[in-house]
Amino acid sequence: MKGRTLVLVLILITGVSLATVFFYKDFQKNQPVREYSSNITIDDLYNADAEVAQVLAQLEKSQEKAIIVTGVPGSSRQIALTFDGLTDRNTMQQILVLLKKYNSKATFFVDGLHTVEDPQTLADIKNAGQKIENFTLVGMPKMENLPIERLAKDFCRAEKIVKENATQDPNLLKCNDTKYTEQVLQVAKACGFKNVVQSDAFFNVRQSNAAAIDADAFVAALRPGSIVSVKLLADIELITNEPGKTDLKPAIDKQPGLKEMSQGGLGEPEIALAVEKLLIALQKAQYSTVFVEDYSKMSSKTALRPDYSNYFALLAKIASFLQEQSMALFSCPIAYAAEGIEQPATEIKTIFTTEQALSYTFGGLTKEAVVNDVLERLNTLGIKATFFVSEAEMEKYPQIVRKIIADKHEVGIAIRPKAGASLEETRKSIMSSSRLLKEQFGVSANLVKQISGIVADTTKEAVGSLDYKLIGQSINIVQLKHKDYTSVDAIMAELFRSSIVSLSRGEILYFKMDFYTDNQIVGGLLESIKQNKIDNIAYAAFYDNSTNNRANNSQYRIKPVGEILNNTKYTYQYPVDLQKVPPHLRHDGPEIAIDSHNFLATASQHYIGQNDVSFEDRMIGFSKMDERRLDKTGFVHTQDNVIFLTFDDWGSDAAINKLLYVLRKHNVPGTFFIITNNVLYNPNLLRAIAVEGHEIGSHSDKHKPMAVMDPKTHKYVKTQEKEEYLKDLATSYQKLREVTGDVTVNGKPALTRFFRPPTLAISKMGLEALLDTGYDYIISGSTSTNDYKAKDITQLVDTIKEGVYTQYGEVKKGAILVMHMGDSVIYTPAALDILLTANEAKADSDPSKFKVGRLSDYLFAGYSQINPKRTLRLVHSADNVRK
Ligand SMILES: [Zn+2]
Repeated sequence: MKGRTLVLVLILITGVSLATVFFYKDFQKNQPVREYSSNITIDDLYNADAEVAQVLAQLEKSQEKAIIVTGVPGSSRQIALTFDGLTDRNTMQQILVLLKKYNSKATFFVDGLHTVEDPQTLADIKNAGQKIENFTLVGMPKMENLPIERLAKDFCRAEKIVKENATQDPNLLKCNDTKYTEQVLQVAKACGFKNVVQSDAFFNVRQSNAAAIDADAFVAALRPGSIVSVKLLADIELITNEPGKTDLKPAIDKQPGLKEMSQGGLGEPEIALAVEKLLIALQKAQYSTVFVEDYSKMSSKTALRPDYSNYFALLAKIASFLQEQSMALFSCPIAYAAEGIEQPATEIKTIFTTEQALSYTFGGLTKEAVVNDVLERLNTLGIKATFFVSEAEMEKYPQIVRKIIADKHEVGIAIRPKAGASLEETRKSIMSSSRLLKEQFGVSANLVKQISGIVADTTKEAVGSLDYKLIGQSINIVQLKHKDYTSVDAIMAELFRSSIVSLSRGEILYFKMDFYTDNQIVGGLLESIKQNKIDNIAYAAFYDNSTNNRANNSQYRIKPVGEILNNTKYTYQYPVDLQKVPPHLRHDGPEIAIDSHNFLATASQHYIGQNDVSFEDRMIGFSKMDERRLDKTGFVHTQDNVIFLTFDDWGSDAAINKLLYVLRKHNVPGTFFIITNNVLYNPNLLRAIAVEGHEIGSHSDKHKPMAVMDPKTHKYVKTQEKEEYLKDLATSYQKLREVTGDVTVNGKPALTRFFRPPTLAISKMGLEALLDTGYDYIISGSTSTNDYKAKDITQLVDTIKEGVYTQYGEVKKGAILVMHMGDSVIYTPAALDILLTANEAKADSDPSKFKVGRLSDYLFAGYSQINPKRTLRLVHSADNVRK
C-alpha cells in the first residue's frame, strides 16, 4: 500500500504548497487573503494542454529518446555539483553566498511548484552566475511508473513554468529518484529535452545534526567526474517515516502541521552548514566544480545519433558505475540516506525475453564433490550458469567460490533471512555479502536469491531498495521426495509429466547441489534435462541440423541469468503498456458497426470461408438463402502468385520453434491463430512469433466450436450462449494484446483482429459476437492440410502441393493453407522446408513459383470477400496510384 501512501503524501504536499502559492500571490497584490479551495489541483497551474497534445502527437511519430547525462569518469579532479529542488529563500541565499565564497559552480535543478512560489530565488541564482535547469513539476519520485500522458503533462508544465521564470532556457531535465526507462526518455525527448541528468552521488543535507556529517569521507568516496547531487527538496520518505509528525489520513482540509512540513521541519540553517562542509571538503580534496551542462556537451558529442550498440554499452557502463558508487556510499552511511520510496523488487521467476535462451542456477556449496562434478559437466557442455553463494559459504569454501569464478560462471548472492527478519537486517546481510564478494573475490553481483523459505516482503523491499534483482525460479529441480533416488531417469519421469515436451525461453531452473544422497544426481540431471528437454527444441531434419549446417540457429542456449536479463534486444515489458499499442488495436469495441440490417452484408464481406463448410456441414443460424451470400472458396482475391501459410492452436517451444526456424530460414511470413487458454503460461513464445515478423490472430480462448454435431440427432448445435462467446472472444484478444500489442515489424503491427474459427465451424451468433468484439476478418481457408493426421513427410508434402498448385502446375493465387502448431504435429516444419526449398530453386519467370504473403497486406480497407470484381478493381486502382 506504499503507492497509496505516496499519493496521499503528494496530495498533502501539493495542497499545502498551493495554499502557500495563493497566499503568497495574494499577499503581493496586497489583497485580503483569499480562501484556499481544496478543489484546486496542480492541473490548474500553468495550463500546457496544447503543448501536451503536441508532445503526444510527436510520440506517435517518433521513438527518439533523450540521452542520459551521467558523470564522465576521468582523472581530472572535477565534479558537477547540482542542487535538486528549492528550499526557503533564506537558505537559498546562504547557499549562493557560500558558492561564491568557495568559488564553486553549481547547477540548480528547480521544480515547477517552488518556482511559482518563489520566482525571486530564480533571479538570485541567475544573478549569482549559476545555472538553472528543470527538476520536473514537483520532484516526484518513481516517475517511471507514470503513464505517458502524466509524464508529458508534468514535463511540459514544469518546462513552461521554469522557462518563464528563469530568463534562460533550461535544457536539462532531472527526475527525482526515477529510473530512466525508454518511456521516460521518449517523453522527455518529445518535450524538447535532449538530455536527462542522472546523478552519481547524493549528499544528504537533511541530517538532524549537520555537525555529525562527515563530508571528508563522502568526498573521499567520490569518483572524479561524478555528478554530485545535494537534495534540497524535502524528501517524501523522510516525512512519511517520522511517526507522529504527520497524520497521513486526515482530509485535505485538515492541514495538520503542514506549514512545518513544507519547511522540512528539520532546521534549514543545518542545510547551509552541511553545504559549507561539503564545499570545504571538496576544496581540501582539490576538486574543482563544473556545470552539468558541460558534461551534457561531452555526452552529446559521443552519442549524437542513437547508435544502439553504443547506447547500450553506455547504459551498462552507467549501471555498473552507479552500482559501484552506491556501494561506496553505503559503506559511508552518513553521506547517504535512503531517498524516495523504494519499490519492492519483483521476484523474477521467468525472464520476459524472446531470446532463445534459458538459465541454469545453482546453490548449496557444502558438498565439494558435487560442485566439482557439476562444474566439470558444465565445462564439457560449454554451459555458463549462475551460482548463488551465501556469505557463510564464501567464508567457509573460498576455494570453491574461486573455482566457480575461474570457470567464468556468474555469481549471485544467496541469502537466508531468519523468519521475521527486519528490512534493515536483510539489507545488511545483502550488503555485507556483496562487499565480501567484491573484496575477497573481485566480483560485483547484482542478483540476489533467497534460497530458503517463502520469499518475504522484507526481502523484496531490501533487494529493491538496493537496486538488486531478486531471482526466483520457474522450475525447482530438486524435490524433497527424490532425496534418496539414485536414478536420473526416474527423477526425470516424475519431474516432467509427459505433457511437458520441452522447456521454454526465459525459464530459470534451480538446482540445489547439496541435497541428494547420491553425489552424481545433480550432474546427471543437468545433462539429461539439456538432452531431453532443451536440445529437442532445435530443428534437426536429416539434411539440416546443427552439425551439418552452421547457419541452423534454432537451438536454445543455456546462459547466466544476468546475461539474459541484460540482453535488452530481447527483453520486454509484460503486460504490454496499452499506450504503446497502435490506436486501432487499442479498443475493445466493434471495429465494424453492425445491426440487423447490414449484418449479413458485413459478414459476407469479412468471412473467408471453406469449401467443406456449408449449410449442411458445420454451419448454424443461417438460412439456405443466407448461405449463398457467404464465401465457400477460402481464397483471397488477388492476381498475384501468392499463397498464405496459417497455423492454428498452440504448442510447446519444441513444436513452435521449429516452425519459426523454417519460416526464418526461407524468410517467409505466416499467420498464427492462437488458442489463448494457455498462452499466458508462456508469453515469451507468443511474443517470439510476433517479433519474428509473423501475424498474430485469435483461435478463441477455449477452442469451443461455433457448431458441433449432436451424436444423437446428427444435427449441428451450438456449444455456448452469446454471452459466453462475447466473453471468450474478448478475453482471447486481450491476452494476445497483452503480450504482442506493441510489436511492429517494418512498421507493421504483428497483432491483427483476425479470427480462425475452431474446426472452421460457423454460426450466425458466433459471427455477430466476433464483429461485436472487434474482430474484422473471419478466416478459414482454401485447404485443410490435416497435417496432424499425416502419416509421413511425403504424404504431407503432397497434400500441401495440392493446396498450392492447380492440376496444370500453376499457383492457386490467394490460397490459404490451414496448418497447425501443436505438439502432435510432427511433419509440418520439414514438409514446409521441402516445399519452400523447391520453390526457391525455381526461376522467377516460372509461373509455378509462388511468394508467401501477409494476410493483412491483402485484406486492405475496402476489401470484400463476396465481391471479387470490386476488390480486384480496388487493388488495381491502388496499384496505379502507387505507380
Ligand atoms: Zn483448432
